[in-house]
Amino acid sequence: MNKFEALGLNDELLKAIEEMGFTQPSEIQEKAIPVLLSEMTDLVALAQTGTGKTAAFGFPMIQNIDADSRTTQGLIIAPTRELCLQISKEMEKYAKHYKSINVVAVYGGANITEQAKKIKRGAQIIVATPGRMKDMIRRRLVDISKIEICVLDEADEMLNMGFYEDITDILSHTPNDKSTWLFSATMPREVARIAKDFMNSPQEITVGSKNIGASTVSHEYYVVGARDRYAALKRLSDAHPDIFSVVFCRTKRDTQAVAEKLVADGYNAAALHGDLSQTQRDLVMKSFRTKQIQTLVATDVAARGIDVDDITHVINYQLPDEIETYTHRSGRTGRAGKSGISMVLITKSEMRKIKAVERIIGKKFEAKQIPNGMEICEVQLFHLVNKIKQTEINPEIESYIPAIQEVLGDIDKDELIQKMVSVEFTKFLNYYKKAKNLNIDAAENKGNSASFGDSTRFFINVGEKDGYDWMSLKDLIKDVADLGRDDVFRADCMGSFSFFNVEAENVEKILEAFDGYEMDGRRISVEITKRKEGGGNRRRNDRGGRRNDRRNSGGGGRRDDRGGFRGRRSNDSGSSGGSGRSNDRDRSFGDRKKSSSYGGGNKSDGGFKPRRKRRSDW
Ligand code: AMP
Repeated sequence: MNKFEALGLNDELLKAIEEMGFTQPSEIQEKAIPVLLSEMTDLVALAQTGTGKTAAFGFPMIQNIDADSRTTQGLIIAPTRELCLQISKEMEKYAKHYKSINVVAVYGGANITEQAKKIKRGAQIIVATPGRMKDMIRRRLVDISKIEICVLDEADEMLNMGFYEDITDILSHTPNDKSTWLFSATMPREVARIAKDFMNSPQEITVGSKNIGASTVSHEYYVVGARDRYAALKRLSDAHPDIFSVVFCRTKRDTQAVAEKLVADGYNAAALHGDLSQTQRDLVMKSFRTKQIQTLVATDVAARGIDVDDITHVINYQLPDEIETYTHRSGRTGRAGKSGISMVLITKSEMRKIKAVERIIGKKFEAKQIPNGMEICEVQLFHLVNKIKQTEINPEIESYIPAIQEVLGDIDKDELIQKMVSVEFTKFLNYYKKAKNLNIDAAENKGNSASFGDSTRFFINVGEKDGYDWMSLKDLIKDVADLGRDDVFRADCMGSFSFFNVEAENVEKILEAFDGYEMDGRRISVEITKRKEGGGNRRRNDRGGRRNDRRNSGGGGRRDDRGGFRGRRSNDSGSSGGSGRSNDRDRSFGDRKKSSSYGGGNKSDGGFKPRRKRRSDW
């Protein structure tokens, strides 16, 4: 008997589960499904997005439905249109082997008459956003007086968004003897109130954390000056050329402003917030899903229900007002068995908020440093080198080869390599050579900060694409070179490669251990990045200073990160590499955005005006 069968699920569902490739029930599924199948009960389940909660309520709901009756028997209420669509698509997959279970999604911003028609044809299950559902009830387009199961999904989000009245109104049109299953990532007072007022001695289930596959989110914070947030955001993006991220801002205005600046600086970015029309939002989401947009800048409300599985980074441009919201933000990454990083940009005065978030998420943050200019140049250089190595030769190039040989044929291989990579490297170097240190020395950081002594930075040709994150990479290196727990530090995992540091006494060990080392038949190469890190704590400006001295770059240059490297690079249409996106795509999307919602691009600096004081529960 497989594990899903043991939970009491029937053949139709088991077949669908097999087709979806689920082999193990997740914790929430294991806990909720047997309870919901064996008795008519109310349930409060504390579970985050990504835990498999949709199936935890979806399977038992489907199994409870009388497929021969066309009456609406199940109602699922979810906060956003995106989530609504995501749930209904999942439910359709689950119910695939039932002949006649119809799932209809009902949400705002789409034609209400069409939705009403679908319901009229017979919808045993309706998945709805609160506002549209209330509207349909008022217009008598739907009858929910006979439902047997009502699911409130992401209840905390719905209440955050101000749907309390709508939900209670909807519930007042449902029978008293139905079962109510409430799913929520957190249990603020308002959710507890719904449970108390509208549910009958609910059973309670809590799942610790995300638990599908090896999905993990690590949490990092960066202490910067308030006016340097934007510059820091750009550096973090440049230091991760394959980043696919959601940047969270607190307000629509900040969201729009940051997205505009990123677009003006040549990044594949777009804003997602409530002031955009539904059509604009759909366009943005479509471009994000297809990765034409690499960075989505969003408000909390607009980002709810984003169902994109491979987001690599969540960047908290500012921390949210409501501490619980952090969980929802970070839950956008590390989905479906993948690992993710949630980064927080904070000012020194916000340090205590990190402690508050740590208490909520039950995990520790790692204090990290905004990379300096040279580190970014190195990342981009190796990214380019790897990209060249992995690029398949385009047969179309053949006809040009004789002409290219005419120009380059005389140059020897070494020189040619140096020249080729210099095209990109020099651009980054010029842009970043005068970049200042953006890190603020927060007293609270000190406990976490390592003294880097006389350490050496290495490059290794494995990265996130091989399933590593900074923690597992450290483990790999420690295992191969037989080093101790703290001997490998500053591991930075990129797409197809990574960097790490070891102290001088371990350099030879690393070189020896990795000499000729193979993993799964693949040669693993580890190289010194030709840069020694000396002089104690890297938080101090002296490190940046040393770099500048070494490059002997002279005067002039930028004082900070304004303007943008990428902007200049994407104008430079002949160049390749760097972002990992084709310039054509960059341009076409950038142009489209610029000529539509983004206008001419904001050239102002990174500092925003001080905001009015907010209600806050920090
Ligand atoms: P959810 O928390 O419902 O948003 O689910 C997150 C993702 O996990 C979705 O893409 C599901 O299809 C997937 N999923 C749900 N249950 C399982 C399972 N038992 N095994 C593997 N993947 C699952």
